[in-house]
Amino acid sequence: MQKEWQITVWGVRGSAPRPEAGYLEFGGNTACISVDCGEELVVLDAGSGLSALGRSIAVGGRREGRQRIHLLLSHLHLDHVMGLFSFPPFFDPSAEIHIYAQAASLRSLEALAGPPFWPLGLSDYPATLCLHKLRADELFSIKGLKGYTMAGNHPNGSLLYRLEAESTEASEKSLTYALDCEADASVLPALTEFSHKTGLLIWDASFAPKDLRPGWGHSTWEQGIRTRKAAGAEAVLMTHYSQDYSDSFLRIQEQEAARIDSACRFAKEGMVITL
Ligand SMILES: [Zn+2]
Ligand SMILES: [Zn+2]
Repeated sequence: MQKEWQITVWGVRGSAPRPEAGYLEFGGNTACISVDCGEELVVLDAGSGLSALGRSIAVGGRREGRQRIHLLLSHLHLDHVMGLFSFPPFFDPSAEIHIYAQAASLRSLEALAGPPFWPLGLSDYPATLCLHKLRADELFSIKGLKGYTMAGNHPNGSLLYRLEAESTEASEKSLTYALDCEADASVLPALTEFSHKTGLLIWDASFAPKDLRPGWGHSTWEQGIRTRKAAGAEAVLMTHYSQDYSDSFLRIQEQEAARIDSACRFAKEGMVITL
């Protein structure tokens, strides 16, 4: 019997948190999504939403006898790592936390953790932290899963991820995480191929179509719908919204998008999607 994946949204904003009234229906935290694959817990980016995930694990989401978490970082822009250093499982001596990123990002992360930016260095936490270097166009594995990477089109670079169930019976189960990537002609053919027939395409919807700023390294929900259709992906989940977009503005965008594509959803913090 194929195991279900439970995908939980913990943070939906790009650039900076927006924790105030009028923004909390969609959510005020920055990028973080978890994928519970049954055996392994994978976390995509460590924005401010990571804190709530950490607390939920401490309160009862904990698996028997172990605490193994795989954190996949797209890049080190602060909206993607601001939740990392105070992630509650870092303080649990029984936790085993694997952090995956490009080699240069891992070196920078080691410099960022520690004085004067933060009182604790990565080796000072009670948890066991294991760092894994990734490159673009690499295949890597996590127990029961195959991971693929692709270079995003983003200032300072980013890594996009595709996760697939490893076993043959579950081989159709997959998701593609494409945040912080400007889907222009330089990257679109490769990104469409990378998202081919994926179960869920998680998309950088930083901009409403009328606000797109070429060169900023981000995309629109309209581009996400086009890519979903071209790739034959089953569904697309929009996230990484500009911190300027209020709930009422996002609700209008969500309705417009739903008229064009019934397989399009807008992420909200706390949303759970089962694959
Ligand atoms: Zn970002
Ligand atoms: Zn970025």
